[in-house]
Amino acid sequence: MKTKREISLERARVLKTRIQDYLEARAYIPKGLEKTEINKKRKEEILKIMNATEANWNDWQWQLRNRIRDVDTLRKFLNISDKETEEIKKVSEVYRWAISPYYLSLINTENRMDPIRLLAIPTVLELQDKSHGLDPMAEEFTNPAGAITRRYPDRLIINVTNECAMYCRHCQRRRNIGTSDRAVSRSVLQKSFDYIRENDEIRDVLITGGDPFTMPNQILEWILKSLKEIPHVEFIRIGTRTPVTMPQRITDKLCTMLKKYHPIYINTQFNHPVEITEESKKACEKLANSGIPLGNQAVLLNGINNDKFVMRCLNQELLKIRVKPYYIFHAKKVRGTLHFNTSVDDGMEIMEHLRGYTSGMAIPTYIINAPGGKGKTPILPEYLLSRGKEQIKIRTWERVVIDYENHPTVDLRKLIEKDE
Ligand SMILES: *Cc1c(COP(=O)(O)O)cnc(C)c1O
Ligand code: SF4
Repeated sequence: MKTKREISLERARVLKTRIQDYLEARAYIPKGLEKTEINKKRKEEILKIMNATEANWNDWQWQLRNRIRDVDTLRKFLNISDKETEEIKKVSEVYRWAISPYYLSLINTENRMDPIRLLAIPTVLELQDKSHGLDPMAEEFTNPAGAITRRYPDRLIINVTNECAMYCRHCQRRRNIGTSDRAVSRSVLQKSFDYIRENDEIRDVLITGGDPFTMPNQILEWILKSLKEIPHVEFIRIGTRTPVTMPQRITDKLCTMLKKYHPIYINTQFNHPVEITEESKKACEKLANSGIPLGNQAVLLNGINNDKFVMRCLNQELLKIRVKPYYIFHAKKVRGTLHFNTSVDDGMEIMEHLRGYTSGMAIPTYIINAPGGKGKTPILPEYLLSRGKEQIKIRTWERVVIDYENHPTVDLRKLIEKDE
């Protein structure tokens, strides 16, 4: 007979084997928090070329003003072939691009397939697809007033600007981004607030764009104040990618202002562990210390994170900087971004290798946005194999199949009243 301890040790040995492949793979995944010295050196090179100072670098308005947005400037920082230069110029005529000096500093200049490079620098692949539209979510048909998108009964989005710290090559909202920076006018925002005030079932308002944190604090505060004054708005969410693309934006001043309008939640978008750097960590910690819960909405992207181990690593790295993985979005079919699309199988493989293998805290929901703005739809590996009245069949994360008894729910009131 084996002792309880012997059985436990045997099980522990099996569990240890379940993680060996990940531990081996993880060692080769580039992580921003392990690149601090390299990133620092690169920052200094870039500052030298730009003839700028450390103080400039830490000033978000400097970062925003000095976004790199033409290929001749880009060539000062990166090795770009003549052929690629011509291609980037061609892409610029159709889609705009811009990279904050900070995000540029994260590019591994030696690696053509570097995820930061793929996310930031245009390629000719963007011009190859002509068949798809820019608005697969039919956002134009879900805009009841002002700058609102409404697809759900109790919550909605306000798009407050089309400006971003960087124009991501995979952007799922390319239609909003357009060709020039423009904040939504006060009167259009006012119309959005009026609509919310008149519709008292709206309890959750999401401020997004573009990136709301490209706006000055005063305008942001006016937006938050206006929403906070509506009694049925229970909380406010802000969607921003600045903790990833321009973490300098998260200043003490901003945090002090945000704190006045609690409950506030922020969702950001880290797509790869190499984006989680010392600077972005600092930005997220500042927000978290201001009482703002942080969530992550990654996009599943070909060549970036469509890998079960990269995604597991990303979600674990996020928890280290106090960001809770919230969603993984299946990439929509948006013109100019199709090379980033993956099959649903890639997403399922990732989800299959999260549950059980790692903390439940590290597991986001995998979402397909139903075409035509019909709503976020969760996609999940099948854990419920059959569902009878008295018996169901489940399977565990290790694919063990188990019969499980199913009873009807008793009427608690009847039970209690019978006893009286
Ligand atoms: C994504 C989205 C929301 C928020 O959805 P949650 O699942 O509550 O995070 C709200 N409105 C619109 C239009 C959206 O696209
Ligand atoms: S920050 Fe968001 S909205 Fe702006 S370009 Fe990137 S993905 Fe698009």
